[in-house]
Amino acid sequence: RYSPSSGLRIFSSTAIGPTFPQFLLASASTCTSAQRFSTTSKYSSENIISSPLPEITNKFPQLKNYSQLYDFSLRESDQFWGTLGSELLQWNEPFTTVSRHDHKSSTFRWFHDGKLNAAVNCVDRHAAEHPDRVALIWERDEPGHEQRVTYRELQEMVWRVAGVLTESGVSAGDRVAIYLPVSPVAVATMLGCARIGAVHSVVFAGFSAQALASRIQDAGASVLVTANSSTRGGRLIPLQATARAAVALCPGVRQVFVMPHSPQPLELADNEVDLERAMSAVQTAPPPSVQGAEDPLFLLYTSGSTGKPKGLVHTTAGYLLYAALTHRLVFDYKPGDVFGCVADIGWITGHSYVVYGPLLNGGTTVLFESTPVHPDAGRYWETVERLRITQFYGAPTAIRLLLRFGDDFVKKYDRSSLRVLGSVGEPINSEAWRWYYDVVGDGRCTVVDTWWQSETGGIMIHMTVPQRRGSGTVLCCAVLSDSQGKPVYDSGATGALCVSSIWPGIARTIHGDHQRYHDTYFAPYAGLYFSGDGARRDDEGYLHITGRMDDVINVSGHRLGTAEVEDVMMEHPEVSETAVVGCPHALKGETIFAFLVLKENSASPQHKIETELRESVKHNIASYAVPEFMLIAPALPKTRSGKIMRRLLRQIAKGNLEDLGDTSTLADPAAVETVLKLYRQMP
Ligand code: ATP
Ligand code: MG
Repeated sequence: RYSPSSGLRIFSSTAIGPTFPQFLLASASTCTSAQRFSTTSKYSSENIISSPLPEITNKFPQLKNYSQLYDFSLRESDQFWGTLGSELLQWNEPFTTVSRHDHKSSTFRWFHDGKLNAAVNCVDRHAAEHPDRVALIWERDEPGHEQRVTYRELQEMVWRVAGVLTESGVSAGDRVAIYLPVSPVAVATMLGCARIGAVHSVVFAGFSAQALASRIQDAGASVLVTANSSTRGGRLIPLQATARAAVALCPGVRQVFVMPHSPQPLELADNEVDLERAMSAVQTAPPPSVQGAEDPLFLLYTSGSTGKPKGLVHTTAGYLLYAALTHRLVFDYKPGDVFGCVADIGWITGHSYVVYGPLLNGGTTVLFESTPVHPDAGRYWETVERLRITQFYGAPTAIRLLLRFGDDFVKKYDRSSLRVLGSVGEPINSEAWRWYYDVVGDGRCTVVDTWWQSETGGIMIHMTVPQRRGSGTVLCCAVLSDSQGKPVYDSGATGALCVSSIWPGIARTIHGDHQRYHDTYFAPYAGLYFSGDGARRDDEGYLHITGRMDDVINVSGHRLGTAEVEDVMMEHPEVSETAVVGCPHALKGETIFAFLVLKENSASPQHKIETELRESVKHNIASYAVPEFMLIAPALPKTRSGKIMRRLLRQIAKGNLEDLGDTSTLADPAAVETVLKLYRQMP
């Protein structure tokens, strides 16, 4: 559909993928006066280019500023990554080759003849150096019950889990499914797998039995680690019962370990083992297995926003290096920081910025087991105050939700420890960005919008620039190229967001389906990694993420990104969420259908709001962008990771009410039912 012949220009990020202009932008922003980031200031590219280099780059003393470093990372990619690979990771056997790629077969290798162990890199080396430093702060569901785990303690937990797995017959290369709440034992299980070379596959502990079963089957896991139950947002989550229902569908699972996570006594079936007991029975630490740099570290399924989830395979050294480096640079990480990423470990954000990135850097990371509104909408900020969090990393969906509750929930807590506020997962609309910046960050913190994917392993683009609209923006250095791969520098051009060379953190394949990997990411544009997202370059050279390419709407020949229309509508004071999709139209080709959720305190009649929205879109974008249909619903269907599932709404807008596609990753089926009902009532 989006073949080069469609005439689209391609945004190729020679500047993005294997290089790191994005990191420097963050460092620039955090080392200069916060006032420069007031929402009205223009952050000029000069500032980025001449900004001081982050400390990690002192390995390249010949480079004086950002643009030199940037050019160097492109020109001398192997030297660049090789130097950082030796610097940031501990090796059992050093690599002699930095990269070896075969583009024909989409086979990519980094440091392939080096040997190392991921768990040693995350824990043992730090436990040796500073055993009493806090590695994890477990923020449980009820506030005020946090538990701290030092590097020494985590090390012991990890080897005990590794021992349990080894005794049960798990060996290097075997897949272990993890269905656990965010907790120290979940981290220890991930790293316990890594210690013995087993491949973990974490499934978000909110998925249904069916969704868990299909992931276990796809991964071919023979062991499952779960817990009896947990509470999240005050609600009991019966993990063991769900796990049992899933395992009943998975004949390949021979053993289930159950962590007594909540105080109820454990009831165990024949194939179930008390994990805590088994851990205390382990006598000696199994030695860390020496793994090849390209051995798989984990499998992780995508959010399923656009279709059937893909089981991505991340390998060891390249992923670790990329997670460690991006964590340091994007978030301006410094020793002593308390890193607060509130993502669940079931998502890539949890893997890279709750677990791997912070631990590789010897940091203190927060494990947030609750929800943003438990016990009330001040939870995040109360946690920030109590734990003295320095970097807070969350999702736009939560920011939009909290904004609805007003400023008081934020202001009553001390947020002076915060330096950086991150956003990930969806475009952050302007209103949410401003609230995050002005209210949460007191106009003092850097807001960093980070664009990346499960496939990329770590942050690819980050944006600290306050934007007029459509804040999915990258710095000026990304190269825009045409379909032949030739750079073009036109402002106003839109196209597919691609990466033109291979970076260490890229997923190496889709589990069991390398052809799908090749077809999805490398076949659409020759020689480029295709992200599936679209982008537009503005007058100043910044890129704006316009949304998924699948979601691009073509109205009478005008191509429109969903994010742009949504962002304008979100500016309305009574609108709290929007999703815009295209639906077929006899004359225009497509027309716009907007789904809306109003704020709690919205009092205006709906027709008035709709009229105002139409005027605003017309005024801010164009009349062809004005939604023809609007449906106001109490909630929108979302994935379990909190993203609006536009593909379902697209089906509904088309009138395909029977065939909604794969709904296994849907968080709240009732939301769809309500939308369907309202749709049927539409005139
Ligand atoms: P699936 O691939 O199964 O459809 P998914 O793409 O939602 O699911 P993830 O890998 O969790 O799965 O999400 C990556 C996607 O999230 C990106 O491709 C992009 O569409 C969106 N995204 C992430 N961060 C941002 C951001 N800062 N701005 C805009 N979009 C973002
Ligand atoms: Mg995706």
